Amino acid sequence: MVNPVVGIIGGGQLGSLLSVAAKKINIKTVIISDNIDSPAKNFSDEFIFANYDDENKIKEFINKVDLVTFEFENIPYKTLNNINKTKKVLPNPEINRIVQNRLTEKDFLNKININTTNYVSVKNERELKSNNNLVPGIIKTCTMGYDGKGQYKVNSNKELDSLKLDFTKEFIFEKVINLKKEISIIITRFSKLQYEIYEPIENIHEDQILKYSKIPADISKSIQEKSKDWAIKISEELDYIGTLCVEYFIDKNDNLYVNEIAPRVHNSGHLTINSHNISQFENHIRAICGLEQIKIKKNFNAKMINLLGDNITAYRGKKFKDNEFFFDYLKKDIKKKRKMGHLTITEKC
Ligand code: ADP
Ligand code: MG
Repeated sequence: MVNPVVGIIGGGQLGSLLSVAAKKINIKTVIISDNIDSPAKNFSDEFIFANYDDENKIKEFINKVDLVTFEFENIPYKTLNNINKTKKVLPNPEINRIVQNRLTEKDFLNKININTTNYVSVKNERELKSNNNLVPGIIKTCTMGYDGKGQYKVNSNKELDSLKLDFTKEFIFEKVINLKKEISIIITRFSKLQYEIYEPIENIHEDQILKYSKIPADISKSIQEKSKDWAIKISEELDYIGTLCVEYFIDKNDNLYVNEIAPRVHNSGHLTINSHNISQFENHIRAICGLEQIKIKKNFNAKMINLLGDNITAYRGKKFKDNEFFFDYLKKDIKKKRKMGHLTITEKC
């Protein structure tokens, strides 16, 4: 069989790292992005610059590839669904539709008896104020948010009263969890009950942006098992193909909650490139291309540091030890809090 050519929508660091992983196993990638300066054009075999609603460009993209995947979940459902009529999109666009909206995502989780924080939909000022039982809480846009964008923390009723929201958008109001820890599970599902699942990863956020990840996570055996069971349940329920990430909260009383699902490879899984025989990226490519499923094996413990904004500068040209792995996403401009690269440090396990 000739290896398929994979189309990837989105040209950021996730698209780049997917391309690198694909190349390693002789799979060609074509990336389409609406950013002409996409870093992924340094890593993919081909790069198309286009707006996602440019039908001609989308056609050109579809003609070059055998199947399509994506690096971020905020692509309009219509675009993905249209592509899916000609070339298979994996994971399935229907999954995206559920997960790209924080309300439908949490409704889905509760329907399958998975614990989330308390939440309500708020459509106007009156609904917002009448839910002050959720203070301290966080109000988030239902769609398009990432890295804490579109989120408003309210610590008191006074803050709630003075909050001015643009109700042309849809919002969700969530109770704040008294966090002990955050963890994530990365799972790659190949087919029914056929998956590779990585051990829980412990994550530290600063200003709602991931800053550090590490394995092993310092958590109890029961949370390890429960978080894995829930990730398996979610991917089975969604009939998911490819790599998926489940983000969790653990509160001070050791209760576990799902925060959100990312229907894609995830920043917290970057350390799998160096800790495991097969990374989250290679597993995603293997699963969507129907290639062999290889049992994952941990070679090292690892911690990852995200290099945000001008933190990257000190690392460029630096000498690294044998157990330090520096990744520069080659983004054109340094911007405050922008994910510019990461460093993974491995240790014997
Ligand atoms: P994003 O889509 O931007 O990643 P998240 O909902 O994951 O948004 O929020 C980003 C981070 O903000 C979380 O990882 C967590 O640290 C904090 N956070 C968000 N919601 C809550 C909550 N309900 N309780 C406590 N912390 C929260
Ligand atoms: Mg998140």
